[in-house]
Amino acid sequence: MPRFFKFSSHDMAIDLGTANTVVYLRDMGIVLNEPSVVAIETRNGIKKVRAVGSDAKLMMGKTPDNIKAIRPLRDGVIADIDVAEQMIKHFIQKVNGGTTRFFHRPEIVICVPSGSTTVERRAIRDAASNAGASKVLLIEEPMAAAIGAGLPVTEPVGAMVVDIGGGTTEVAVLSLRGLAYSNSVRMGGDKMDDAISSFIRRKHNLMVGEATAERIKHEIGSARSPQGDGKILRIKGRDLVAGVPKEIGVTQAEIAEAIAEPISQILGAVLVALENTPPELAADIVDQGIVLTGGGALLDRMDELLAHATGLPVSVADDALICVARGAGRALEDASYRGVLMEA
Ligand code: ADP
Ligand code: MG
Repeated sequence: MPRFFKFSSHDMAIDLGTANTVVYLRDMGIVLNEPSVVAIETRNGIKKVRAVGSDAKLMMGKTPDNIKAIRPLRDGVIADIDVAEQMIKHFIQKVNGGTTRFFHRPEIVICVPSGSTTVERRAIRDAASNAGASKVLLIEEPMAAAIGAGLPVTEPVGAMVVDIGGGTTEVAVLSLRGLAYSNSVRMGGDKMDDAISSFIRRKHNLMVGEATAERIKHEIGSARSPQGDGKILRIKGRDLVAGVPKEIGVTQAEIAEAIAEPISQILGAVLVALENTPPELAADIVDQGIVLTGGGALLDRMDELLAHATGLPVSVADDALICVARGAGRALEDASYRGVLMEA
């Protein structure tokens, strides 16, 4: 292929996350970062996509009966392959200037959870092919996260990454372009949000929606309890007894208590990974520490909690939310990483 075509192509890497999709265009970097949400309207029995991404997320919890906001990858598996495909198509079109007509059909690298099955991987590959890819390559998410975080994955040095997403947390130990250990648990930011809404319902008789629970987590959520009550946040919801809208205050200590269980499960996955790490690599991790990526890494004091419980140095990667896409993009651009890409 003439070099010219290679340069003018829109090869891209896509981090198809359970909560957010991030697209990296070759030689350009991150060009799209939107929620993995699709709003589907049903009219006379026919389903039609109404909105995708940020527009669709705004509709969550506020749609009339005939419109449903769907997260096709919610728990780390593709719950709805047709909707997932429409979403991938939409995002590829968007970064390609609104069309699926390509001057040169792009090569697309897609991140897949390390625990995904062959069937799931094929479904993702087919969705990307149908969306116009000339070739689909896959990269395991923890590997992409590690490259994005700047870890030495092509050297014989062990490194541990913990990627805390919306639906899943991936824990992996990497060395020499491969995963020496990996484990994916269905635990992440979504379960924290659920825990916050059920806590508030139980304790304050107040119903809050998903979006409110997530906002509470972002604003005052913490992996470790504060001294005393900590900050207080005013929140609104529907009173379960009177059935009317109401405003109450929740404390940082309450929210820390609410999310303690999901957080201890994430910690549990990290401890199991450490127990299963070959000794030579474990020695490297003592020096290198653990790197956190994904949105959950941004939860207040998450790094501190893991450092305290493991006795190891823990750091949060720069730009934790786009780290996986950046790593996949680098693997696409830099030939020295080619070995980590897999044919689908
Ligand atoms: P995925 O890869 O599964 O799409 P992301 O890595 O994009 O997930 O992370 C999304 C999750 O991170 C959501 O649950 C979101 O609420 C959470 N998150 C994002 N920012 C923060 C923050 N500052 N504090 C706590 N959680 C956060
Ligand atoms: Mg992710």
